Amino acid sequence: MLTIKSFVFSDFKENTYVLSDPQTRQAVVIDPGCYTQAEKEQLAGYIESNELTVNKLLLTHGHLDHVFGCAFMKRRFGMDIYLHPLDTPLFDEVPARSAHWGFPAFEPSAVDAYLAAGDVIGFGTNHQLEVVHVPGHAPGHVAFICHAQRFIIGGDVLFRGGVGRTDFPRCSQPDLMKSIATHFMTLPDDYTVYSGHGQPTTIGRERNSNPFLH
Ligand SMILES: [Zn+2]
Ligand SMILES: [Zn+2]
Repeated sequence: MLTIKSFVFSDFKENTYVLSDPQTRQAVVIDPGCYTQAEKEQLAGYIESNELTVNKLLLTHGHLDHVFGCAFMKRRFGMDIYLHPLDTPLFDEVPARSAHWGFPAFEPSAVDAYLAAGDVIGFGTNHQLEVVHVPGHAPGHVAFICHAQRFIIGGDVLFRGGVGRTDFPRCSQPDLMKSIATHFMTLPDDYTVYSGHGQPTTIGRERNSNPFLH
């Protein structure tokens, strides 16, 4: 069984996830949103105290709040940063905009490898994450599905009682709704959704009660 550890970081209350295999202690970090030094040490401390080896740093998309900790994590642990190529323009403009947005301490980093729809990310004994492309909130937004444990790390696409914002540059409301219909609502009801903000939910709960889906 994978261990799923989540942290809530920065003023954006962004969810950072560490997925790890207790047997091999291999792990992936998804969306390191740690901004303050204390938050960065909290994330690094979890990895170090559990003696995890982080193979990959995966990004659901290139927005500021999801990439705050990239440079720190890469320096500390040396893993590669993965992003969908359609989000590199967003990722690349974060350093220029972060001071303007009130985050002067943001440290730029570089993407090392690209994610594509259909990729399967394997780590640990036999854990697999399927990559799906879910544009709308961001053009290169992806989600990571673990079918064995029936969950999806969904980023800012579908929230408990909400959907991702589409009032930013490069967003598309029709694309967002199509992504949710195609890649979230086709999953069984019992799949857990771990979102980029807020509490986890399930596909069934959102199918039945999310006001934005009706
Ligand atoms: Zn976002
Ligand atoms: Zn976000």
